Amino acid sequence: MSSSRILVLNSGSSSVKYQLLDMADSSRLAMGLVERIGEETSRLKHTPLTGDGAERERTGPIADHEAALKAVAEELAADGLGLDSPELAAIGHRVVHGGLKFTEPTVIDDAVLAEIERLVPVAPLHNPANITGIRTARALRPDLPQVAVFDTAFHTTMPESAARYAIDVATADEHRVRRYGFHGTSHAYVSRATAKLLGKAPEDVNVIVLHLGNGASASAVRGGKCVDTSMGLTPLEGLVMGTRSGDLDPAVIFHLARVGGLSIDEIDTLLNKKSGLIGLCGDNDMREIRRRIDEGDEQARLAFDIYIHRLKKYIGGYYAVLGRVDAIAFTAGVGENAAPVREAAVAGLEELGLAVDGDLNGVRSDEPRLISPEYARVKVAVVPTDEELEIATQTYALAALAGKNS
Ligand code: AMP
Repeated sequence: MSSSRILVLNSGSSSVKYQLLDMADSSRLAMGLVERIGEETSRLKHTPLTGDGAERERTGPIADHEAALKAVAEELAADGLGLDSPELAAIGHRVVHGGLKFTEPTVIDDAVLAEIERLVPVAPLHNPANITGIRTARALRPDLPQVAVFDTAFHTTMPESAARYAIDVATADEHRVRRYGFHGTSHAYVSRATAKLLGKAPEDVNVIVLHLGNGASASAVRGGKCVDTSMGLTPLEGLVMGTRSGDLDPAVIFHLARVGGLSIDEIDTLLNKKSGLIGLCGDNDMREIRRRIDEGDEQARLAFDIYIHRLKKYIGGYYAVLGRVDAIAFTAGVGENAAPVREAAVAGLEELGLAVDGDLNGVRSDEPRLISPEYARVKVAVVPTDEELEIATQTYALAALAGKNS
């Protein structure tokens, strides 16, 4: 029996998202989400994707990540997809911060885990949860290859001119303060898929990728390699997001502390959780914001305009960084679904060779597609991202290699 199944785990502080894929044909066998781990009201939603199995839900306390993964294993076993199956080839983990060391997906051993732990000070909100997920999965199947796929890896090709902040070099180096970038798995996948859509090799294409989800980031990709991205030391920098402010004058923080009397933790929460679209208008879902705009809501309109203004600045900035742009690709929840965002982001940029065809932009589809008119010099694309498939693909490739070498 060949082993071609990969379990992909995305462990957050109180949640675990998972997908089981069969890499023989890149199909999805099951997916699900455990939420509110550690609370009384935990919930597991499991969706079998083979046969005619319906979505199942469990509610009630799930104490920790170990209990969560055990519950996931039980659900999978009920579908005949148990994690003890010899068909499971490896487990792939999304790891948010790989620092400068991890430029590629990496098979996890004790030394790798220790290095991921060493990065906790620069990723205090994300890496601890990822580490817990890895430990739990290793305990469950110690015999299986476990692979870390890093959100930062794709951005390690950024030149120092883009990666460094203009602050004292010794201080920056001592505290590892630099721009790392995130969403790298998505930017890598989408930039490659965009090249394919254009019928070209990634090496021959320059792309601006706009990953617009609840978190949002832009990247400039030259010949398949990232040369700049909008998130920095943490995912706070850059675009206006669902709940994050993105770029602001760092002195806003001093001002809020000194004059406003807010603590550092309060400012952290304000900028990461209560800013962006939700801070500007009380909603972070673009569907709701568009609905309110259609009803004449001025606050929602202003939030949308600020969002688009920032997006345009990054499109223009990355156009200048790349010099020649072949395509702009929209992806993630907003980028894939919100035609008005795509239209507004590109409006007025005809002199840069950019345009959107209204009819094409209005078509809903799960397939990668072009929405620019035939004559446009720079193609505008909508490319659904698939981080789980990318993690599974990279994990499978490494697991196969590990198998050959053992
Ligand atoms: P993500 O983080 O990629 O899952 O994206 C989540 C966001 O996508 C949500 O907060 C929504 O704002 C947005 N979104 C999802 N579906 C739509 C839609 N049909 N139209 C506009 N925005 C959408």
